Amino acid sequence: MKLLRVALPVPVYREFDYLSPDAGAESLGRCVRVRLGPRRLLGVVVATPGESAVPRETLLAIEGYADDVPRVPPDVLTLARFAADYYQYPLGLTLAHAVPPRGRQSALSRVEQPSAYRLTEAGIAGIRGLPAGARRQIELAAALQGRPSVPRAELLAGAPSARALLGRWLGCGWIESVPAAADTKRDGTVILPELNTGQRAAVQAIVAAAGTFQPFLLHGVTASGKTEVYLSAAAAVIADGQQVLMLVPEINLTPQLADRIRRALPFARIVQLHSNLPDTQRLVAWREAAEGTAQFVLGTRLAVFAPLPRLGLIVVDEEHDLSYKQQDGLRYVARDLAVYRARLRNAPVVLGSATPALETLWQARGGRYRLLSLHDRAIAGAPPSIRLVPQRDKQTMGGIAAALRAAIEARLARGEQSLLFINRRGYAPSLLCVACAWAAHCQRCSARLVVHLEEKCLRCHHCGYEEPIARACPMCGNQDLLPLGFGTQRLEAVLKELFPTARIARIDADSTRRKGSWIALLGAILGRELDILVGTQMMVKGHDFPGLTLVGVLGADNALYSADFRATERLFAQLTQVAGRAGRADLPGEVIIQTDFPAHPLYQSLLRHDYHAHAEAVLAERRQLELPPYSRLALLRAEASRRTAIERFLAAAHIQGQVFAAGFAGVRIFPAVAARMARRAGFERAHILVQSATMKPLQGFLGTWRAWLTDHAPRNVRWGIDVDPQELD
Ligand code: ADP
Ligand code: ZN
Ligand code: ZN
Repeated sequence: MKLLRVALPVPVYREFDYLSPDAGAESLGRCVRVRLGPRRLLGVVVATPGESAVPRETLLAIEGYADDVPRVPPDVLTLARFAADYYQYPLGLTLAHAVPPRGRQSALSRVEQPSAYRLTEAGIAGIRGLPAGARRQIELAAALQGRPSVPRAELLAGAPSARALLGRWLGCGWIESVPAAADTKRDGTVILPELNTGQRAAVQAIVAAAGTFQPFLLHGVTASGKTEVYLSAAAAVIADGQQVLMLVPEINLTPQLADRIRRALPFARIVQLHSNLPDTQRLVAWREAAEGTAQFVLGTRLAVFAPLPRLGLIVVDEEHDLSYKQQDGLRYVARDLAVYRARLRNAPVVLGSATPALETLWQARGGRYRLLSLHDRAIAGAPPSIRLVPQRDKQTMGGIAAALRAAIEARLARGEQSLLFINRRGYAPSLLCVACAWAAHCQRCSARLVVHLEEKCLRCHHCGYEEPIARACPMCGNQDLLPLGFGTQRLEAVLKELFPTARIARIDADSTRRKGSWIALLGAILGRELDILVGTQMMVKGHDFPGLTLVGVLGADNALYSADFRATERLFAQLTQVAGRAGRADLPGEVIIQTDFPAHPLYQSLLRHDYHAHAEAVLAERRQLELPPYSRLALLRAEASRRTAIERFLAAAHIQGQVFAAGFAGVRIFPAVAARMARRAGFERAHILVQSATMKPLQGFLGTWRAWLTDHAPRNVRWGIDVDPQELD
């Protein structure tokens, strides 16, 4: 019996040894079924050690290999190990990201094998002898004849009954299966516009880096043609027989992108990987990626763990986007793991953005990433003009300034579309008593309830708690309760009053929750069935609306008050992105921002479309405060139902942390503070911030501290370490 070291999906920081009759290098990454105490689990073989720390006679044998689950390839195994160490998370739970969803694995065997077939010599001879009456066989033969390979799906689409025939022909050696990729013609037509000088230089640099680890930062304003650069580089990589992985923040919101990729690379097999896909589809995509038949994998952050045997290029679009950070469990940043994976595979990785994360820009300045800049818009037309107007003046009606109202009016007259964008951070409408200043609070969170006029209820946006809108103030009985602040629903109501004939739609998480409703809205926008759109963050992600020529922004100033040091960086990114939505086609676009602080450097940089000036100012501030990218941060997050429980836990963690920190140069640990939202869903929340000049000592510290915390945390406290936290709350 040989030894297998297995990572199991349980919350412990160790692996488990099992015995197996066969074990060798080829066992690495394979899934095994094992027993752990009373439980039966599926684990991943991560090593084949010569010896175990546990006496042999106490070791159990594996129950068997689970070969219906695709094996975790070596580079993903290494990636998972790195992620587990870096983000201080158990390896077994980390590896859960690298296998298709648990509990559904049995579905895999029922899933169609994506592959292709071709006739063998024997088959070519054999079909000549088919009797004229064998219609189904002759049809199948005709479909296969004279072609280097035919995808299985195509054969089955023609005649579902072909399934049995294919099995028989495989059995008697008339056909053989080949990877579907062989289907690709090397001279496959690529439908791309002629690139401009900047784009050509970028594509050349990326393609020239094939086969080497080279991160690129592709910086270019919206519509500068970054996507065309990705697609051209992808076409070259695919023509070379390799696979491309492209990560995007959210696929659901950008169905246009998948269509565009399909049109640009009509010869390539493109699959999507994101968590909203039906299981079977996701499994098929996973398997096609694993078999190398999928040449282009378009996915959200989880796709960074996809098996890709012939990976030749990684693209991370909108690399600054917050959704690349997973906010619970394994708190990874997919962009950063993408760079690490590219390094493992000796592949170029392209991080693209109009407003790169300052961390990324800093890497480029340090020469570790190569900066590729697209300076101009790829299409005719000036960039949108940006105007700042006062948030409050005598003519403001329902929160909308006179200048913005006039601009909307003009669009309505010309039959063009307007988008009103609310920066919702801390800006949702709550219910306030004008007599005693009582405000409706969630009973389980330290948050105000948000007024939902349509559903006539108050809802907590953190825990989902709901109650009806109160008729009178519970404190003083006053009946004059005022919705304070401004939400999309209220704005929609105001707009309906101001522009009674306009066709208005609200686009936010509430209005698009139902499946397909976003697609329907998208169709209505593109079909010009709507005049005014009211939206939040989700509106600004990568859409191209030809009829949209005006963007109004409300509540932008909120970010300037925020306690989060990243708030201004995000506001700039958001406003840049939202401005990019205006006037992409032949019509010039206009952006109107309501603000009380027109002289603020952030707005001034924005007016000049000057990302670098903005970045310079923020970097100077970060350097002075020793904040990222000039330092590295980690948070110990804790929550418990009783405040005293986390206070005691974090106090002990802090004292012990100080002792450990003394052994790691430059590591500083701060006292515990309550989270900005000190209560959520009935749990008290607090955290400890750790800061370090560089990552290495921080990692050393965190490993030691985490081991201590694992042993000393009481059961009634939930805790976790967040490395490179993106939101300090
Ligand atoms: P980005 O990804 O930077 O926002 P896109 O690649 O989407 O920019 O390009 C914006 C628009 O310009 C798209 O409609 C695209 O087809 C078009 N475009 C990009 N590059 C060129 C080019 N070289 N010639 C003509 N049109 C182009
Ligand atoms: Zn009151
Ligand atoms: Zn709540």
